[in-house]
Amino acid sequence: MVQPDLQTVRLSNGKEITVHTHLFINNEFVPGHGPLIETINPATEEVICSVHSADEQDVNAAVNAAATCFKDTWRKVAPAEKARLINKLADLMERDRDELAILDALDNGKAFTVARDVDITDSIACYRYFAGWADKIHGKTIDTTFDKMCYTRHEALGVVGAVIPWNYPTMMAAWKFAPALAAGNCIVMKTSEITPLPAYKFAALVKEAGFPAGVVNIITGYGHTTGNYLSGHPLVSKMAFTGSTATGRKVMESSSTSNLKKLQLELGGKSAQIVCADADLDQAAEWACGGIFNNHGQSCNAGSRILVHESVHDQFLELFIKHTKAMIKIGDPFEEDTFQGPQISKAQFDKILNYIEIGKKEGAVVSYGGKRWGNKGYYIEPTVFTNCHNQMRIMREEIFGPVVAIAKFKTIEEAIDIANDSDYGLAGSVYTTNLDTAITVTNEIKTGTMWVNCFDVFDQSTPFGGYKQSGFGKELGKYSLQEYTQVKVVKILRSSKI
Ligand code: NAD
Repeated sequence: MVQPDLQTVRLSNGKEITVHTHLFINNEFVPGHGPLIETINPATEEVICSVHSADEQDVNAAVNAAATCFKDTWRKVAPAEKARLINKLADLMERDRDELAILDALDNGKAFTVARDVDITDSIACYRYFAGWADKIHGKTIDTTFDKMCYTRHEALGVVGAVIPWNYPTMMAAWKFAPALAAGNCIVMKTSEITPLPAYKFAALVKEAGFPAGVVNIITGYGHTTGNYLSGHPLVSKMAFTGSTATGRKVMESSSTSNLKKLQLELGGKSAQIVCADADLDQAAEWACGGIFNNHGQSCNAGSRILVHESVHDQFLELFIKHTKAMIKIGDPFEEDTFQGPQISKAQFDKILNYIEIGKKEGAVVSYGGKRWGNKGYYIEPTVFTNCHNQMRIMREEIFGPVVAIAKFKTIEEAIDIANDSDYGLAGSVYTTNLDTAITVTNEIKTGTMWVNCFDVFDQSTPFGGYKQSGFGKELGKYSLQEYTQVKVVKILRSSKI
């Protein structure tokens, strides 16, 4: 018997919520033909429910729905109407903000209040920002010679495929859906098989908002099957991928061996936070603490390496631990004052604890935390390593958990060299009261984002994306529209002899 779409699940606070578990194709929730996938509550280690997954025929169905809709319907919808629909969707998300946040918290383990006030709030802002762009995307006229005219069109790509990770289930979806829709594309998105539930609530809102069937299609499934079919599909014009660098390489291979589809890869990171001797140390310690421990350290841009000038190292460490103690209340995601919930999965939990052991064996010193928290759920204490150097694995590899490695530097040149000695190039920060130092460091560090005297400050209008093996292409801001359009040049020979 096919498992019905709607399932009622219980939250840790005793309340119940109804979730969709079928694929969303052509504005309908339909059963998938892949295996059922259990989604786990990381706070309790218990199964929340099972969801349907997409096999190759389901991927085909979703891509064909998007392709047909693009050809027959969506490309003919006026940009102003597209803007109205995206804004309507944002209105509905605002109405159901709590329910969306509950699903993010339940499936991912992040604190409900953080999900509501950051993830969902910023996602709504993202849809509104790109709704504003929908009717302002246009080309140029270019004068060439007297008897010819030339103009450019910024055309939609057609069917965009998207694959997202589990760390910000609603927000990572928003960063792709919003610009893709505003630029006039239809989409097939594969959510992470670890956090499939929030996107299906979003899907129901897409339908309620009145989007034509086929504009938005949402599926889930394992990466090596469902994700691979999607990224190799010949009717998909572009893949917008967010995930690890290793998987990004596979998506690139799929593009290369299929139709050379356009790619945007948002991959991993190992961001360095540089604390100079002249910094406001208390302020720096507070920002640096959020910079690594926000979202339980499960952020691509997490400031997981802190480089501190040797003259202020001990003072900074004391302040950093003070702020860690004050900021991080670990607990059930549905308790009002929880800041840090569990890590996403048993696999991540084991991986992080293993890195803590690696750090100790490499000679780093655990100055705070370093253990599992509690005895149920995938909780790990915020962990501070000191006595680190840049050849250690904990300084080079993405741990993706609440673990920070602190090292000393003597000169600003040395700090820049250490920060740049990484395969990754996603983000970083510098804490200083000297403007010249701030400009020098931000210019010299090879990353896509640099923050000065702050960290993790995002806005819908500012682009975000990596250098080096952190990927390429920009999300957010006007820049991201280029990722979802292609430029056509039209040249016309005039017959007029005037
Ligand atoms: P992951 O690479 O394991 O999985 C990401 C997604 O890719 C999942 O949906 C997965 O099912 C899918 N996938 C796996 N194999 C695939 C394949 N062969 N073809 C197509 N899709 C496939 O990453 P994760 O563990 O879910 O997320 C953590 C990673 O994501 C970290 O490295 C983190 O830095 C990165 N990330 C980057 C950004 C950014 O903006 N740069 C943002 C968030 C997360």
